[in-house]
Amino acid sequence: MRSVALLGATGSIGQQTLDVLRREPDSLRLESIAGGRRVDELIATAREFHVTSIGVTTDEDAAIVRAALPKAHVVVGDSGLAELAASSDVVVNAVVGFAGLAATLSALEAGRRLALANKESLVAAAPLVDEVRSARPTDLVPIDSEHCAIHQCLAGASSQNHYESVRRLILTASGGPFRTKSIDELRDVTITDALAHPTWSMGPKITVDSSTLMNKGLEVLEASALFGIGVDRIDVVVHPQSIVHSMVEYVDGSTLAQLSRPDMRLPIAYCLGLPQRFDHGWGSLSFDSALSLEFEPPRRDAFPALDLAYEAGRIGEGAPACLSAANEVAVAGFLDGVIGWSDIVPVVRDVLARYERIPLRTVEALRELDDWSRVCAHERMKSS
Ligand code: NAD
Ligand code: MG
Repeated sequence: MRSVALLGATGSIGQQTLDVLRREPDSLRLESIAGGRRVDELIATAREFHVTSIGVTTDEDAAIVRAALPKAHVVVGDSGLAELAASSDVVVNAVVGFAGLAATLSALEAGRRLALANKESLVAAAPLVDEVRSARPTDLVPIDSEHCAIHQCLAGASSQNHYESVRRLILTASGGPFRTKSIDELRDVTITDALAHPTWSMGPKITVDSSTLMNKGLEVLEASALFGIGVDRIDVVVHPQSIVHSMVEYVDGSTLAQLSRPDMRLPIAYCLGLPQRFDHGWGSLSFDSALSLEFEPPRRDAFPALDLAYEAGRIGEGAPACLSAANEVAVAGFLDGVIGWSDIVPVVRDVLARYERIPLRTVEALRELDDWSRVCAHERMKSS
């Protein structure tokens, strides 16, 4: 029986993780949950799963949870997330944005399995995560469907020699809701348009990131950090059906792919069960009728976020953190109606242009860079 900490329990990944836990009560036991808002939902989940520890972000929410669940251990803020992340066998980090940092670092430092959905923390903290991973054995398994696919396609390839037999990683992208729109049409897209993803139902931040292809850019950086492969050995291909979740091309020209119906419960269950695979019945493909799989190159001119992320990856060190922080601010600005959709990437580009290379050796240095990038993005948005 594995104990599970679910951080970001009220979100899209959090709710789908609960589905997996309901299906596997003999293998998995939910021990702690945390969330940023919707405290009533947290309380309901705690009651359903007999959860003993709960993390919230404010003292007011802590008081509400303590009143409803007097026996629960309630923790607050980043230190609370870090405490929960150090205490269970598997930590599902499903928090959105840089706020997931404390959980990522704490789970790895404590030697817990980190089932990582929160790509932003890995993208930003790659140099710090590298240090932890080189100092001790860690167990980091990606929930992000592309990276989970690559994790499976790499099984058998040795990381000891930096995947010498791997020529490149190929990330698939659905192309988002605006895949076929002209550059002119993209100027007028609305918040509702951007939130209507064709193949995946996800939280608002990642849905907007999918519409700009910044999500794919962040995923290139995430793959580079996870597998220790430079961004120039990572390619992106648009695959509108979201059936092939990503691929690995080996030096002999052989390409391995992982396929399933698009359902995030599959990668979540993979991360929770590994090395066991659960017989959950989700995701199987039917070949009884015709099934077409299409692939096309991304439209880099219409979606410049992708090349911007490669640029940040080539600069390295703090550049991905700067890009990701500026993007978080710009996406929030778009969702609040402060800037238009086509302003998001220019805001990020201008903040990245101001970035000066500094060594990222400490969490404090990373937090300082994150703060600076956010201030720059807010300043830049005022002029949009
Ligand atoms: P969401 O907005 O639906 O949920 C985010 C969760 O994080 C909520 O429970 C929220 O309360 C919590 N949260 C926010 N700030 C917090 C804080 N300071 N402390 C504690 N909890 C906090 O987002 P989502 O779509 O579930 O995405 C979560 C992460 O997973 C993101 O990093 C996203 O990129 C990644 N991801 C999501 C999907 C998907 O299908 N939704 C797929 C791949 C990767
Ligand atoms: Mg993904």
